[in-house]
Amino acid sequence: MEITELTFRGSAFRPEERPADRLPQVAVAGRSNVGKSSLLNWLFRRSLARVAKAPGKTRSLNFYLVNRSFYLVDLPGYGYAAVSAQLKEEWGEALAEYIGTEERLAGVVALVDIRQGLTDRDRELQRLLAVADRTPLVVLTKADKVGRGPRTAACLSVQRELGLATPPLAVSVRSGEGRRELLKGIDAMLSSWRERQRSE
Ligand code: GDP
Repeated sequence: MEITELTFRGSAFRPEERPADRLPQVAVAGRSNVGKSSLLNWLFRRSLARVAKAPGKTRSLNFYLVNRSFYLVDLPGYGYAAVSAQLKEEWGEALAEYIGTEERLAGVVALVDIRQGLTDRDRELQRLLAVADRTPLVVLTKADKVGRGPRTAACLSVQRELGLATPPLAVSVRSGEGRRELLKGIDAMLSSWRERQRSE
């Protein structure tokens, strides 16, 4: 897959503000500063998602229509320290609602910083995903920042803790590695979603 056509279709704070069509959605999640905006712009090959905005400011779900066939959904970055406990809770509820009940959600790309490994907030997201019976595509960001040894160690540790069948995918917007594999992973999630739709 390559991204040939891209349109920003708006932000949603409430479920009824999400797109009204039946197209599948692939969500990208990660804590603030994990590199989510950079990764989206890198996938899109243009600057649509805002990089290094005030952390924690964006609380909406942002919908990007790709190739007129599916949405990439930029989920709010979680776990920014300056956000109040109440706001964190509201966010958590909104995320849980989306992940738990959105039928058009074909898959979730869960971003983890390769240097930090899983944080408690990442673990919270993983629990939400497990409760919703969703297997995420786990992606380690900023792979250019570590050498070969720490990189292998990070992959193994995340794979073991989350019980993944395969090691997580390491990507870097700096070196460009992992882009093709990530698009392939997204494609695979969309294919199995379409397969499930046909069999229902
Ligand atoms: P977000 O808060 O998750 O949207 O994170 P951003 O995309 O704003 O990135 C946070 C910081 O990490 C910025 O300073 C980026 O330049 C940096 N960053 C993001 N991806 C990479 C990467 O692959 N390699 C390196 N070296 N830095 C990165």
